[in-house]
Amino acid sequence: MTDLLPPKTSQRSVSRRAAAARPSRDEAVTAIRTLLKWIGENPDREGLIETPDRVLRAYEEFFAGYKQDPADVLEKTFDESGSYNGAVIVRDIDVRSHCEHHMVPFIGKAHVAYLPDAKVVGISKLARLVNGFARRLQIQERLTAEVARTLMSALKPQGVAVIVEAEHHCMTMRGIRNAGATTVTQHLCGIYEENATLRAEILRELRRNNG
Ligand SMILES: [Zn+2]
Repeated sequence: MTDLLPPKTSQRSVSRRAAAARPSRDEAVTAIRTLLKWIGENPDREGLIETPDRVLRAYEEFFAGYKQDPADVLEKTFDESGSYNGAVIVRDIDVRSHCEHHMVPFIGKAHVAYLPDAKVVGISKLARLVNGFARRLQIQERLTAEVARTLMSALKPQGVAVIVEAEHHCMTMRGIRNAGATTVTQHLCGIYEENATLRAEILRELRRNNG
């Protein structure tokens, strides 16, 4: 898959710069009020008085990923136990993110697999990793690649495969209004990128019971 990460600029440095230039809460409230006026609303009518504040609180939740480095959730790893030598596969991890082009949701599922070498990580950490990257403005391709590459660099497994399937509200609510259209992205690293047989096998496993 093509490299969709922006060159040189890491997510981490983007977050740090953004934090330095962060406007005050009052300025953010004023910005939401401006948008309300721009769409033709009266931000002072009763039903909308508290709306800017509610929007900001919602944003704090939607975009909590900027306050964390998702790689941190993979810090605690375990030496592989027993003689288990198969892939670790977690399907149907919730993906709730916002597209960076329209700031509207895209919602779906991630399926994550890795073939351990020496290290494994708690299963729930894979969901937290996906969640950390999803709670930012994203494009689905980058989200998929970031999850795969972060796992690859943290666990140094033999390979990683990630599939994300999501419905983009910018497609269903506006533009061509194509309800039900699903976008599927995949990113493969290591042995799954190099070996066509293993790749076909893991993709089949990840897609099982889907579609
Ligand atoms: Zn969009």
